[in-house]
Amino acid sequence: MCLLSFTLKSLAIPSRSKQQYIYKFNKHVLLLSVKFITMSKSGKQHLMINKYIYYKKSTLQRGMKWCCTNCLCRAYVKTSHELEIQEIRGEHLHQPAKYHQLADGTYIKVGI
Ligand SMILES: [Zn+2]
Repeated sequence: MCLLSFTLKSLAIPSRSKQQYIYKFNKHVLLLSVKFITMSKSGKQHLMINKYIYYKKSTLQRGMKWCCTNCLCRAYVKTSHELEIQEIRGEHLHQPAKYHQLADGTYIKVGI
């Protein structure tokens, strides 16, 4: 089962380390690996959650909306302005794209 098929809206975050969020959803425990990365070509900040990459789509009154970089995918994430994950919606019906981290810390997409 794809972990990101869960809707996390209004769930509390019981504990949080640096880049890992633990969510409890009924009996399920979700561990999300969350990372903000910078793309090498554009210099833009993207959000990486469990290997899926989201780009910043829009700024909302209460935060920001991030959409999956796969243009056919409708998964999205909402964060606060402080970049706390607030909501993860949608299911990825594709494999995550492969990204490579360069020596300067930025990322490039590799492969197709
Ligand atoms: Zn996707």
